[in-house]
Amino acid sequence: MVPGARLIVLGKQGAGKGTQCVRLSRRYVLPHISTGDMLRAAVKARTPLGLEARRYLDAGDLIPDSVVLAMIAARLDQDDTRTRGFLLDGFPRTVAQADGLDEILKPFSIDLVLDLVVPTGLVLARLMSRRVCEDCGAIYSTFAPPKLNWTCDFCGGDVVQREDDTEEAVTRRLALYDAQTAPLIARYATAGKLVPVDATGTVEEVAGRLLALVEARLGAGGAGA
Ligand code: AMP
Repeated sequence: MVPGARLIVLGKQGAGKGTQCVRLSRRYVLPHISTGDMLRAAVKARTPLGLEARRYLDAGDLIPDSVVLAMIAARLDQDDTRTRGFLLDGFPRTVAQADGLDEILKPFSIDLVLDLVVPTGLVLARLMSRRVCEDCGAIYSTFAPPKLNWTCDFCGGDVVQREDDTEEAVTRRLALYDAQTAPLIARYATAGKLVPVDATGTVEEVAGRLLALVEARLGAGGAGA
């Protein structure tokens, strides 16, 4: 068990972060905080944040750091993350965001950074076939669709292709990952927090590897042990 663990999951778009985070968060009862899901919800609800964020999301560009940091600071200020820890998915994505997160968490810090490692050719194929539920964010693919007529098995919402899963936006997002997010890997490795995980293979295989690694690092005496 990892009570109260503070985890980050890194990995290129299409590495399976969302799918694996849902499993990890259920297994350890950790709040799953996905900045992509939060931003898409804001766009759908047409909040001021959503109206501002929309053009970045559609183009596959990153939202300004200050905007994302304000959103995360507000979320991490809620009681559930203080007592139960959290799983960050899609954040931090830049060095400035990682610096901002360190400030927000003081006097605490991140326990572990799981890096889902996959070759670029494989993530491209995964992203082009990915389909998601517009309402709850459940992830499907053209090879593993929902049971009934592109209606979500869990909530009945419409299952669609994301606007930013086009070839152009995907290429842009992968280039941004290499330029902006990959440097975080060296940062967390130097801090002794990084755990690379082979994210090729089936969802079950990757989930098994992840659980084994989390237990090995945090299992014995809880988070930070
Ligand atoms: P994701 O679902 O994590 O692939 O995120 C979808 C889109 O949301 C990204 O392409 C960005 O436009 C935006 N986004 C999500 N998280 C962040 C972040 N941490 N920093 C900046 N933009 C973000």
